[in-house]
Amino acid sequence: MSKLSKSGELVYSPRYDLSDYKQVLSAEKFKLLYDELKYERWSWHTPDVAAEETLALVHTKAYLKDFLSAHLSDHTLRAEVPIDKRIVEAVRTATQGTILAAELAVRHGLAVNLSGGFHHSFAEHAEGFCYLNDTVIAIRHLRQTHALLKVLVIDLDVHQGNGTAFLLKDDPLSFTFSMHEKDNYPAKKQSSLDVDLASFMRDAEYLQLLSANLAQVRSRFAPDLIFYLAGADVYKDDTLGGLELTMDGIAERDRIVRDFMPEVPLVMLPAGGYARQIIDTVKIHARTIRILHGRAA
Ligand SMILES: [Zn+2]
Repeated sequence: MSKLSKSGELVYSPRYDLSDYKQVLSAEKFKLLYDELKYERWSWHTPDVAAEETLALVHTKAYLKDFLSAHLSDHTLRAEVPIDKRIVEAVRTATQGTILAAELAVRHGLAVNLSGGFHHSFAEHAEGFCYLNDTVIAIRHLRQTHALLKVLVIDLDVHQGNGTAFLLKDDPLSFTFSMHEKDNYPAKKQSSLDVDLASFMRDAEYLQLLSANLAQVRSRFAPDLIFYLAGADVYKDDTLGGLELTMDGIAERDRIVRDFMPEVPLVMLPAGGYARQIIDTVKIHARTIRILHGRAA
């Protein structure tokens, strides 16, 4: 594996910015996160729009027909966010961003997409703000050049990665690990390892469970690449999460992931984050990125 680049590989496109969609929860976080990081020393990469055949690595023809034409149907409306040409373009670009970040991670050891982690998306329908399953699309895209790539998904968003778990359930070269609030959205699918958390859980218990379960992952699977969905919605002041993690607790979570299998390349995706004050969500994501940058350094 090549050395971690000192400047850190970050992926962003102005197309991610949906700040003027006031009806979309936390839509402005992508631009705000970029603003938070843009004066620091990072190496920036801009993705294009993902090609239709790339999306077809995961999604059905019928679904893509609805989605790409921004058509509100039974399959798209479950995203519970509006659909129009600009949103389609934003999600397609974010998906290409995850692919680009995965390729950069393989080369440099670590890369971050400033959007993505749409883990509630299934092959034939959208769900929970997620139109395209960028993680699984990126995995299948990488397998075209790295045939036997073994991939671990560490999903620490407060909501279970149901779409990702379902899409990868018969893939012997993947391992899905999801730690999430039990009594919350969505209807759960089976991951390789699920950890159901009680509502109102605090830092100490959460961190102890994370360490113990990562040790289990280590004993069961040896990945070549890790996708880390670092949801900020585990934060105590999140409007869609019921855990009680503090910002320092989340930073410790990220240090545990940073120090887990440091020799394995890692892609970080922000996934969810809907704090009452959007700046809290942005601060959490930015801190995760800065902490992970210490990985393998
Ligand atoms: Zn979430």
